[in-house]
Amino acid sequence: PTTSAKKDVYLVIGGSGFLGRHVVEALLARGDSVSVFDLVQRHHDVPFYSGDISEEELVSDALRKSGATCIIHTASPMHGLDDPALYWKVNVDGTQAVINAAIANGVPKLVYTSSAGVVFDGHDLIDVDERIPPLEKAMDPYNESKAKAEELVLAANGKGGLCTVALRPAGIFGPGDHQFLAGLFQAWQRGQSHIQVGDNTNIFDWTYVGNCVHAHLLAADKLGPTSPEEIERLKESLKIALPS
Ligand code: NAD
Repeated sequence: PTTSAKKDVYLVIGGSGFLGRHVVEALLARGDSVSVFDLVQRHHDVPFYSGDISEEELVSDALRKSGATCIIHTASPMHGLDDPALYWKVNVDGTQAVINAAIANGVPKLVYTSSAGVVFDGHDLIDVDERIPPLEKAMDPYNESKAKAEELVLAANGKGGLCTVALRPAGIFGPGDHQFLAGLFQAWQRGQSHIQVGDNTNIFDWTYVGNCVHAHLLAADKLGPTSPEEIERLKESLKIALPS
């Protein structure tokens, strides 16, 4: 990948959410031009475009008006809802609408926040990396929709000049989190504090929101057309890294 010389203009989709808000802050802190697209407006005094990502025209309109050259798409309904249709509508149809709008408007970069849940089947995953393929059958409708969205985003790479990347964070924690700590607090309020899951040797990945943001910015900065020589070099380095 090559680093583009010209500074990107960013549209953070889901920029009013926990992760999206920190992405916006990090971009502002490094002096970048940022707009937000979301259902609701919170947190920032930056150009805001209100809408649902499943309405392609609204996304297109925001792209045109903001002049975005890089979309960071973090929007999703939260995990744990009993609403498979909503997950599909937003994560699959909505992400397809974002891809279509990006291509129609000549946007060169799309960074998508996927989830580690697309590869997690309930068993330990130790020392795996991004080469692990998504599951045949996801654990729940949320993860099924995230996996399908990731597939769409990666399949769109190279279409109409669009370069794409998907990141798979595990559980994210940090300032502004309203899911993980709130869930623990509710469990404590219900008196469910004397529970042990497994034999106390279980491990689980958590990612600090600042590190997750850093990954998104690195991905955005590095995203771009890859030369044939670079592809060969990457293939070589992947071979070396493959476990025997
Ligand atoms: P969040 O709920 O705090 O933020 C999501 C944002 O998306 C909200 O502001 C919401 O209004 C917006 N949104 C939802 N539906 C929308 C729609 N139809 N159109 C436009 N905007 C919409 O969630 P988060 O924790 O910040 O998660 C961000 C991303 O990271 C999501 O894609 C999620 O799947 C992924 N992820 C989160 C975690 C985690 O532990 N929080 C772990 C792995 C992956």
